[in-house]
This record gives sequence, C-alpha cells and structure tokens, in this order.
Amino acid sequence: MLATIRTRPLFEIEKRLLSREGQWLVRTREIPELGPYRSRLEAIEGLYRHVTICTGTLRKQEPELARKFVEHSITECKEPECQLCADLLALAPDSRVVQLKA
Ligand SMILES: [Zn+2]
Repeated sequence: MLATIRTRPLFEIEKRLLSREGQWLVRTREIPELGPYRSRLEAIEGLYRHVTICTGTLRKQEPELARKFVEHSITECKEPECQLCADLLALAPDSRVVQLKA
C-alpha cells in the first residue's frame, strides 16, 4: 500500500474538509478549494490523493499501483478486498459508508 497513510497518519482531515450546499470541498495548501465532492468519504479520498501526489509519494510507487491509485474511486470500487478502500475507511471511521459494493 502507499506509504502516505502510514507516514502521515493524520493530515488534519477535520480542519481541511468544508461542507457547503450539500457538497464537500477540501482546503489544501496548493488549492484553496479542491472539489466539490459528493460525500465526505470522497473528499477524504481527494485529499489523500492530492497529498500523495504533491508530496511526491506517488512517483516512488510501482507504475501499476500509481495508476490504480489515481483512477480509484471509493464510491465506485468493486474490488472485494481492496486495500485502498480499507485504508481510506480507516481514515474516516465515522463516515457513513456510501460504497456500492454488493
Ligand atoms: Zn477500492
């Protein structure tokens, strides 16, 4: 799995998430309002992806893993044992899960 979560266990998720008119935005150093996202969980994924790319973590990954990571969507992921989903959910234990997995 990508090391971002392990090396930076919390990047101030609560302070960075912003809810407006039913949508979620993410405050980052580089982009004042990233998004909008339909759910808090998606916003967390967006923040995680942003931090992973901006910190250069993604460049150190296997190309195939990096591709999967960039294309991943926590609400649309169908992989039954997806490590990325598990990691994201661990970041947001209080989020209502809106995944479409059967
Ligand atoms: Zn997944």
